[in-house]
Amino acid sequence: MISTKILLVFLSGSVITCMAADWSYDGKNGPDEWPKHFKHCGGKQQSPVDIKPNDSKFQRRNLEHNYKGKHAKLEFSLENNGHSAQVTLENTGKLAAKVNGDEFVPVQVHFHWGSSNNVGSEHKVNGKQYAAEMHFVHMNKKYESSDEALKHKDGLLVLGSFIEVGDENSDLKPIFSQLDDVGEQGEKTEVDDLDISKLMPSNKKDFYFYDGSLTTPKCNEAVKWIVFKDTISISEDQIAALRSLKHKDEEGKDKPIVDNFRPVQALNGRVIYRTFKDE
Ligand SMILES: [Zn+2]
Repeated sequence: MISTKILLVFLSGSVITCMAADWSYDGKNGPDEWPKHFKHCGGKQQSPVDIKPNDSKFQRRNLEHNYKGKHAKLEFSLENNGHSAQVTLENTGKLAAKVNGDEFVPVQVHFHWGSSNNVGSEHKVNGKQYAAEMHFVHMNKKYESSDEALKHKDGLLVLGSFIEVGDENSDLKPIFSQLDDVGEQGEKTEVDDLDISKLMPSNKKDFYFYDGSLTTPKCNEAVKWIVFKDTISISEDQIAALRSLKHKDEEGKDKPIVDNFRPVQALNGRVIYRTFKDE
């Protein structure tokens, strides 16, 4: 009898642990709860942040890459992972971005967006939030696996682009035209011909950079962040396609994925650098 009780306690304990491994952008698994279950989320170098151009420091830094011509056109898979629309790049070959001597391999792209056009981006500039933000994730070549990269401060390079709603973005059509196929959580589709040189604004010289973290659990402080000064644009129809993606809520009901951004985090003494002179 006693052993049955212990077993029940053990089982219910593991169910709780299992539930706690879930996270969301609102409700009882929302961002305020993340640090309780994912210790890095309570760290001192978290992302996103509110960028204050007036407090940023000018420092030269170059972002180089070899995303050119037909080699930059990649096959990829597009998946609704319940938190975002995520593009996993395939056969990246010798493609790499280079920052400050380190080479980073392109691995993944995903988006954060709002329920309306005045919210959605993760980073802010002087408190201003954009309608969406694209994250182009790279992994440092010197680490053999993403598990290994996540243990180091320079494990990942994420290129963040603010997205405004306006003109249609034809460069992102290979992604956006397939969103219908991944409407429900867990759905996945294969796509060809995404030109990854187009996953950044045309002005790649002017950006902010700082040391931060993944903006989703486990919030590892392993990210060299670059946030471009120039924005990119998508159309109302394109952002509507993002907002029509669904995920399962805590009760297993289909709900639209919207407002999938983490609130801005404290700088805790970190400096945000900018590569352009006039803030
Ligand atoms: Zn992201």
